[in-house]
Amino acid sequence: MTSIGFIGLGNMGGPMAANLAKAGHLVSGFDLAAEARAAAAEKGIRVVESVGAAVEGADAVVTSLPSGAAVRAVWAEIAAAARPGTLVIDTSTIDVESARAAHGLAQAAGLLSLDAPVSGGTEGAVAGTLTFMVGGDGESFAAGKPLLARMGRRIVHCGAAGNGQAAKICNNMILGVTMIAVSEAFNLADRVGLPHQALFDVASSSSGQCYALTTHCPVPGPVPTSSSNHGYKPGFASELMLKDLGLSQAVAMASGAATPLGAAARDIFDRFVAQGGRGRDYAAVVEFLRT
Ligand code: NAD
Repeated sequence: MTSIGFIGLGNMGGPMAANLAKAGHLVSGFDLAAEARAAAAEKGIRVVESVGAAVEGADAVVTSLPSGAAVRAVWAEIAAAARPGTLVIDTSTIDVESARAAHGLAQAAGLLSLDAPVSGGTEGAVAGTLTFMVGGDGESFAAGKPLLARMGRRIVHCGAAGNGQAAKICNNMILGVTMIAVSEAFNLADRVGLPHQALFDVASSSSGQCYALTTHCPVPGPVPTSSSNHGYKPGFASELMLKDLGLSQAVAMASGAATPLGAAARDIFDRFVAQGGRGRDYAAVVEFLRT
């Protein structure tokens, strides 16, 4: 597979497309934003002026877009332009319903398709160390795995169409809830005179251990690489966490699943984003919870 169309060359898509170009693929990229197109051109991507032009002659097409509506619209264009048998992979984080609708568009056009949302952030996109959570049939997964391996390190087949998005939504509900729990614990420690480092040393090697604590520690000091040591510059912006918690709540409501902590986490991030959290890393919720 040598020729790839790439739609959506933003913070994630730009570096992912660059890694495909670096690996020797001919990457034809399109983005609505002139800034994203210019940055991609500097990284070895052949920038084109439409979705159709990116898809023309491609063996595979990858999308990295902000919303389910954008994915549905772009996949409709891809389905109209791609040769039968072309593999289409969406790496955006979107709702399960839109993901399954996009698969339907691809299937009707005789294309192979995967939903493959990622974890690992912009740093992982640049370094090619992302984790992909993949939904789709076995034939599509077998075709897509080598391509995903150019952009990531772990590729997990989660089952049928839409299951990649389902896994992403469940995972990020855990992350949102645990970041709030860890933040509350540090704020409680402050009130009782327990130093942050002491709580970290205990919890990081005890039953309180979790990613929000040991990798994204919300208070400065214990984890030098966490955003709390860098003015809470994202990283993972709080409004993106809010988006993901909203997606998990939509699925919970539609399926009748009881997720009271997921619902509380969504409400907390909703208020945090509205009251100054937008553009700050999600770990800054520790300050919001302190007030
Ligand atoms: P971004 O806003 O930087 O990039 C999205 C790009 O899509 C933009 O450049 C935009 O111009 C382009 N775009 C929108 N509609 C388009 C269309 N119709 N045709 C062509 N281009 C179009 O966002 P991002 O941070 O790169 O995130 C992309 C996706 O990855 C999102 O779904 C996000 O939730 C997910 N994600 C982001 C991160 C992160 O840390 N940034 C981590 C995991 C997953």
